[in-house]
Amino acid sequence: MAAVSEVSETADLPVVVIGAGPVGLAAAAHLVERGMTPLVLEAGPRAGANVRQWNHVRLFSRWAELIDPAAEKLLAPTGWQSPDPDTYPTGAEWAQLYLQPLADALGERVRFGARVEGVARRGRDRVVDAGRDTEPLTVHLADERITARAVIDASGTWGGPNPLGGDGLPAVGESASATRIGYQVPDLSDPVVRARYAGRRIAVAGSGHSALTALVAFAELAEAEPGTHVVWLLRRGQVGDTFGGGETDQLPARGALGIRAAAAVEAGRISTVTGFRTAAVEQTDDGVILVADDGRRLDPVAEVVVVTGFRPDLSWLSEVRLDLDPVLQAPRALAPLIDPNVHSCGTVYPHGARELAQPEPGVFLVGMKSYGRAPTFLAMTGYEQVRSVVAALDGDQAAAERVELVLPETGVCGGAGVFDDPAGAAEGGCCGAPAEPVTLGFGRPQD
Ligand SMILES: Cc1cc2nc3c(=O)[nH]c(=O)nc-3n(C[C@H](O)[C@H](O)[C@H](O)COP(=O)(O)OP(=O)(O)OC[C@H]3O[C@@H](n4cnc5c(N)ncnc54)[C@H](O)[C@@H]3O)c2cc1C
Repeated sequence: MAAVSEVSETADLPVVVIGAGPVGLAAAAHLVERGMTPLVLEAGPRAGANVRQWNHVRLFSRWAELIDPAAEKLLAPTGWQSPDPDTYPTGAEWAQLYLQPLADALGERVRFGARVEGVARRGRDRVVDAGRDTEPLTVHLADERITARAVIDASGTWGGPNPLGGDGLPAVGESASATRIGYQVPDLSDPVVRARYAGRRIAVAGSGHSALTALVAFAELAEAEPGTHVVWLLRRGQVGDTFGGGETDQLPARGALGIRAAAAVEAGRISTVTGFRTAAVEQTDDGVILVADDGRRLDPVAEVVVVTGFRPDLSWLSEVRLDLDPVLQAPRALAPLIDPNVHSCGTVYPHGARELAQPEPGVFLVGMKSYGRAPTFLAMTGYEQVRSVVAALDGDQAAAERVELVLPETGVCGGAGVFDDPAGAAEGGCCGAPAEPVTLGFGRPQD
């Protein structure tokens, strides 16, 4: 039977946080710190459900950059031991050693198996003007409605991987070839997964950090398993700065990943095909043939790994009023800061409630989801976002406006969006190696 939570005063209502990932849980910790009531609704069975999907991947961020300050304060009295701040966890370790203990500390304020299917203004669809400032929001689960004073959507974009098709829509035959195509970095330490790829020709499509991670993993496989060969597909016309900033990246592990991927390509076990925009996937007896929109056909491959980024699911936000950038599907004021046509990974100044506010009062998109299709999100950006958003919800405009984070640069200009214009990428001019070392991390800036 359908249930409706009855609460009369909007101020007494919880702030609903959608998603118990790193940023949603951090939002909850900030709400608790300010004496507000969070209710985190998580679709999965445990904290960090999306992070656990890439358990085997080692992050390029250190623990110091992956723990939210308010969360750390909440965890301190529980006897939680902070991991070594200078080491790099895997996705599994991030979830087990930090996210799950944080969810446990939040207790009943986190509900698992609670998939949000819609958000609306109570009694009004998006067309009705009256009452948008006074009525609470309603959060729709399959058989339950929860009223909320505000909604912080931290549901990520993991559920919306981009397709192989160069147009941003599935290529002809892509769906029919689903058994040959994977949309994430495979875990080659799993014997079953390893056997799927060992000794085969594999196509890897994409140019971001996941693609580089896959290239490095497959290069190691090729060394151990003769006959393994990787064809690396790039939509852009040349490899250019795909390998990142190397030693000028302020996140050393991220720079090192690019250096390792470049070495793997150099070693010859990876063939690079540039300017390849997949239009069709044709099935053969023992694999698929990829066909580009210019008619080029590749030799058959047994497996395809598509790591071409993600897109946000906005379908269940149809009844609230959002102002999103038409290119990135990110909050309009945030988009210019993260546009991959202009900016490099991570080269974005910290931002918060001001950039994330929506025409719908009390609704905020944060975390990975706030970046829409931009590929450059860092958890530390999200922690700063929710610190500011929660301060704004608490009426503390001074704290909401304050910047308490210095973000790292990659040492690269230009990004995915410039693949048709490599010259423009080189002239991007948004960043570069800093003249002085930059301290990464959280803390009040000097006034
Ligand atoms: C392979 C890989 C490596 C990465 N490495 C780094 C790194 O080194 N450093 C870094 O800073 N970042 C890294 N990232 C980015 C990373 O994903 C984010 O920093 C972080 O996970 C984003 O947190 P989030 O809370 O915004 O979203 P997510 O982690 O995606 O969490 C979203 C949560 O919302 C839940 N959810 C989704 N839809 C609903 C719904 N409708 N109702 C209820 N719950 C829902 C999901 O189950 C999930 O638990 C990496 C990402 C990938 C894919």
